[in-house]
Amino acid sequence: MRSTADLREYLDALDLCYFDGQLAEDYPELGIRWMRARTSARFGQYSEARGIEISRVLAYPWVPPFFVLSVVYHEALHAVIGLEHCYRFRQAERAYARWYEASVWEHENCARLLAAEPPKGLR
Ligand SMILES: [Zn+2]
Repeated sequence: MRSTADLREYLDALDLCYFDGQLAEDYPELGIRWMRARTSARFGQYSEARGIEISRVLAYPWVPPFFVLSVVYHEALHAVIGLEHCYRFRQAERAYARWYEASVWEHENCARLLAAEPPKGLR
């Protein structure tokens, strides 16, 4: 099972690859953690107050790292670009190297993800 430490590693790796280290530089308080409860059909959310929150079903090992990374990347973009899915946001989203693969995986596994019981006792 993934842990919060894994999420932090993903965020740090994405910072180096896609943000040139500016996330840590400009948003030193940006936190990442599991969502407390399932929030409709969303796999991630961002707010200035709570930082990045990731759906607990993404802790399952059968969810591939490239998909979890794509969700973390999407939420990190919200911290930098803003809350709207504007044109600039959608363009930036496609910069993720496995964006297309992640979209296909999400499409093929959406039902399984939504049906999965969120794991309890995550660290
Ligand atoms: Zn979004």
